[in-house]
Amino acid sequence: MTGREIRDGVARRELSATEVCRSCLARVEQLDGTLRAFVTVDVDGALAAAAAIDNRPRTADRLPLAGIPVAIKDNLCTGGLRTTAGSRILERFVPPYDATVVSRLRAAGAVVIGKTNCDEFAMGSSTEHSAYGPSCNPWSHDRAPGGSSGGSAVAVSAGFVPLALGSDTGGSIRQPAAFCGVLGLKPTYGRVSRYGLIAFASSLDQVGPLSRTAFDAALALGVIAGADSSDATCSGRSVPRYEDALGGDVRGLRVGVPRAVLETGVDTEVLDAFEQGLEVLRQRGATVSDTALPHAKYGIPVYYLVATAEASANLARYDGVRYGSRVPAESLAGMYEQTRDAGFGAEVKRRIMLGTYALSAGYYDAYYGRAQQGRTLIRRDFEQAFAHVDVVALPTTPGAAFRLGERLDDPLQMYLADVFTVGAPLAGLPAISIPCGFTAGRLPVGLQLIGRSFDEELLLRTADAFERDTCWWKSEPVL
Ligand code: GLN
Repeated sequence: MTGREIRDGVARRELSATEVCRSCLARVEQLDGTLRAFVTVDVDGALAAAAAIDNRPRTADRLPLAGIPVAIKDNLCTGGLRTTAGSRILERFVPPYDATVVSRLRAAGAVVIGKTNCDEFAMGSSTEHSAYGPSCNPWSHDRAPGGSSGGSAVAVSAGFVPLALGSDTGGSIRQPAAFCGVLGLKPTYGRVSRYGLIAFASSLDQVGPLSRTAFDAALALGVIAGADSSDATCSGRSVPRYEDALGGDVRGLRVGVPRAVLETGVDTEVLDAFEQGLEVLRQRGATVSDTALPHAKYGIPVYYLVATAEASANLARYDGVRYGSRVPAESLAGMYEQTRDAGFGAEVKRRIMLGTYALSAGYYDAYYGRAQQGRTLIRRDFEQAFAHVDVVALPTTPGAAFRLGERLDDPLQMYLADVFTVGAPLAGLPAISIPCGFTAGRLPVGLQLIGRSFDEELLLRTADAFERDTCWWKSEPVL
């Protein structure tokens, strides 16, 4: 069932939230030994939340997410429930509070089933950098589900939950959504509070929903978006009822395709599915034209400088004193060193070193300063494109899901998985990935639409119209 169907059934008291919750937990129990979407399943907490919904007073009948089971990426703090961010260093970390997005979901009636696997501190594109081992792609178990929000994408794709939260810094909601055949929405920077999101790169990080349908994503975004006094980067702009933007047509929508960007190398099967997706939009009345993003080629180097620089600063807090595990030593410096050596995985260490180097005296102008200039050019590209188109379309990824292990020894190949997704967060723009077909080997392909700042409504409306004309989103992996 979709989230909306569950919510409506529960609201009419035709469906018991407890029964829905039990059936989700049973499916997780049956299948997650293989898929490993979850790092922690909160059976007792979920059943208690579901019971509270079933016993609610009449006045609470209109809760927007009543009884909907949700999965939360494990880099979002959950009060009283372990939050690891995929890292050893937080293996026993139990946050004293809920992230704002989590408390808003709960207040809206959602039932938190558990915490999903992710690359350590959200650094990666496959979940293989999780200290708790990789998750499997439900469409092909020897392939990566994408990352870093891989566990959330698997949980939706495998039918464990209709809705999950992920975080996206350079593609971590959209790329796993594409690899697993579900919808993923990265909101505009500042649309959603980051309070309680374990920071990776603070000028890029955003929280957003993964779901099967545009309606469920709209419901979730409406609940989690909006001002938060605990996050000064969170916008005070009013939050529309996103679901009211759905149902319309895409007649007159101007879609821009940066053809030159596609020449950088896209698998032909992905390109075919992408073209097929554009054709659906065209038949619904959209116009598709060529557009330019002349600086897109700097996306990967700019992103991997900005993100690592910010990560090196954010991760300084894991010192064995304030958070997570500690390795005792003779001296304070020794304690820092041994705690961080034992607590962080190889990819996180690589990024701390790259970021520290990029920020260091003598190299700052050459690397970090240049990257900031590049970021400005990338943002201007989009401003110019949006002067004549309403959305920019790209495949979400240059290829479909790769094999587990295939890119582990080659970080640059891993980073290239993000070539089409880093632009939107660098420019602070919202972007959505929707299922647009399959490869011959039955691996899902995602169509990405990037919108104007705070124009999530248009992205969701387009995704919804697309859904009504296509059936890829209905396909389920055989498990
Ligand atoms: N895959 C990208 C990285 O490794 C993006 C990660 C993310 O969006 N959190 O940094």
